[in-house]
Amino acid sequence: MSSVSWLRPGGGRLAVGNQAFEWMKRCRQCDPGSVESGGILLGRILTGGKDVVIDYVTGPSPSDYRSRSRFTRQVEPTQTIIRRVWEHSQGTCIYLGEWHTHPSELAQPSNFDLHSWAKHVHLSQFSRDFLLFSIISVEELCVWELRSSMAAPAKLLPNEASAY
Ligand SMILES: [Zn+2]
Repeated sequence: MSSVSWLRPGGGRLAVGNQAFEWMKRCRQCDPGSVESGGILLGRILTGGKDVVIDYVTGPSPSDYRSRSRFTRQVEPTQTIIRRVWEHSQGTCIYLGEWHTHPSELAQPSNFDLHSWAKHVHLSQFSRDFLLFSIISVEELCVWELRSSMAAPAKLLPNEASAY
């Protein structure tokens, strides 16, 4: 499997490249004592503006807050990464959103997640009018898309099998 993909709510597809997919998969909380991981999603919006590719993910970093059921990313360590990736890609690789793991079998956003995602969309400075949020549970990787004009995040439907 070189990538997995989903259908975006407004048309177009989202693909997660192999490197990013494998990294998030390795962070799954399969052990009973493992803590949450997370970080940011970096990638490209392809010509036409509808198809999106996640090329890289970062994290977790040592200063993040991590427990069995909570992950809070510190903003500072990733700012430099976002800027470097943007420069090296000549402005094509951008910040696309956030990812984190859950210790449960299925990926389902908590109320804390929904609140935090809405805050990101309202407060973040990002290049496009949407952000993507991914949760990696023990058994699945799911992605939601949120725009400031939406009341709630829309879950992306799998275009290809996204099971492990
Ligand atoms: Zn969560």
